[in-house]
Parts: sequence; structure tokens; C-alpha cells
Amino acid sequence: MALKIIVRDLKKSYGPHEAVRGVSLEVGEGEIVGLLGPNGAGKTTTLECVIGLRRPDAGTIQLCGIDALAEPEKVKELIGAQLQATALQDKITPREALRLFGAFYAKSARVEDLIERFSLGEKADASFDSLSGGQKQRLALALAFVNDPQVLFLDEPTSGLDPQSRRELHGSIEKMRGEGRAVLLTTHYIEEAQQLCDRIAIIDHGRIISTGTPDELIANAKTLPCILLQTSKPIEAKRVENLPGVQSAKWNVDRGEMKTNHVSRTVIELVKMIGAEGNELVDLQIRKPSLEDVFIELTGSSLRD
Ligand code: ATP
Repeated sequence: MALKIIVRDLKKSYGPHEAVRGVSLEVGEGEIVGLLGPNGAGKTTTLECVIGLRRPDAGTIQLCGIDALAEPEKVKELIGAQLQATALQDKITPREALRLFGAFYAKSARVEDLIERFSLGEKADASFDSLSGGQKQRLALALAFVNDPQVLFLDEPTSGLDPQSRRELHGSIEKMRGEGRAVLLTTHYIEEAQQLCDRIAIIDHGRIISTGTPDELIANAKTLPCILLQTSKPIEAKRVENLPGVQSAKWNVDRGEMKTNHVSRTVIELVKMIGAEGNELVDLQIRKPSLEDVFIELTGSSLRD
């Protein structure tokens, strides 16, 4: 897989404040990588440096094999960016905006194709201020696409959208993977990262603190799996706490949960104990750590704090 984005040891300070402190990341052809982090972690600053909106203090950026700091004009033709809150004139229409933006590039996609691809047909000739939030986001994505870019940078592409509009946008982003484009996105939605991203880089205080596929991040988590249980008759809390593998338990009469470092041993002994006592299982669930658990474990905060 050819690497389309290579960032090495990127640094950026605002006065004395070090917003980005040595970020390195890579995105390959046909790959969607998510940059996840709490508020103020340095996601937007990283993205702005990589797309040439800010000059980093240190580090190197290679986009499609070109040194982006040495040849910004050349990379501009090859990349597309959707930043937070796209502002356009109230009365401009999607068709006009797409034409206008397309004129900035040597090679541009056909406006009709963009309108169709991003489902803007119904509103192609309506004024910008009459578009819904989802339509504005789709237009922003279409504008990032005007030069048919090989590499896309999306800063919270589905922020504030309802689930239906979010799903539609996910479809558009996923399509980019199939076309061999490289996508680097930031998001505040953990489920979105899990669904969309081939790999995730977790950033905190300006540094990448963990990176991997969603499954790898979960598998490496220290957070233990949890068994949730309800029985037909009461069980003494002590007996639940003393089951093999159980590290901690919250138990109340006939229901509760336990964290275990050995799911199968705990469940086998639990079922034996319940059967031997003539008790019955009403409900049994095993909850593996989620990406959200991993995120909280690594950063100490939830994604939407
Ligand atoms: P969010 O999730 O809230 O968008 P973020 O991860 O994108 O946050 P950045 O916007 O990159 O984080 O900000 C990183 C740090 O740099 C924050 O502490 C922020 O306050 C600071 N910062 C960002 N832009 C500027 C600026 N123009 N001048 C001074 N400080 C800034």
C-alpha cells in the first residue's frame, strides 16, 4: 500500500503553548484514519499544519510523495479539505459554489457529477442559507472534492448532524476508500471512528498516545471485560466476588456485574454455582471493553467532555 500522507515529528506552538508536540502519522492509499482526542488535544492544529493553513515550527509533511512544506502549490492540486463550519455567502447556490471553487484548480471534477455524488440535486440551485445542516455538510464535502483529490482531510465531517444525515455522509466517505483515496479525519463520535476508520490515532496534549485498528486498540486495553448477571433467587455478594477470575464486583441481592480477567473460567464456575443451588439465570451478558472505554483509559476523559 502506497503511503499518501506521511507526517513526521510535527510541532506547533501558539506563543508559549505547545499545541502539537511531535506528531507522526501515516495514511495509505484506500485507507481511512481517524484522529481522536479530547477537546484541545491538537487535532485541528495538526490538520491545519498538514494542509498548509499553518506553518509548523518543526517536522516534515509528505503528501502523495511531495514535500508539502517545500512545494505547497503542487500539493494543493492533489488534496481536498473540509474544515469545521464551512461559511459561504448566504445567497450563493451549491452549483455556483462548486463552479467557483472548481475554478481555483488546474483540474476539476464536473459540477454535475459532484451534485449527483453528494445528493445535492434537489438543492443545487437553492441559496446556501436555505440548506439544512446535513445538506451544508454534504456541500462542504463536495467542495473538498472539486479537484478530484487523492488525499482528503475532514475535520469533524458529521458534527451536529442527525443519525440519518450522518449515515449518508458515512456512505460518501466510505466510497472514498474503495476509490483508493487516503482520508484523514477527526471526529468526536466514537461510534463513527469505529465504523469508518481502518486505523485510529489517539491524540492527547499534542501527542499521539496510541494507534491501531479499533480491534487492536480494544485488545490492548487494560480495561477488563464485564459480566452482567441476573438470577431468579438471591446470591450472597461474597460468593460472586470469590468466583475465579473476578477482580471486582457490584452485587445487589439477585443482580449485578463483575469485572473479570478470565471470562470463560468465571462464567463456567458461575453457571455451576447457580445450577448446584437450584437457582436460575434470568439474564447473562458479557460486555467486552469498548473503544470508548479505551479512550477513557488512555486520556482520562470521555470524547464529548
Ligand atoms: P477541539 O476538539 O476542541 O476542536 P482540537 O483537538 O482540535 O480541539 P486545537 O484546536 O488544535 O485542538 O487546539 C490545541 C490547543 O491549542 C488548545 O489548547 C487551544 O486552546 C490552542 N489553540 C488553538 N488555536 C489557537 C490559536 N489560534 N491561538 C492560540 N492558541 C490556540
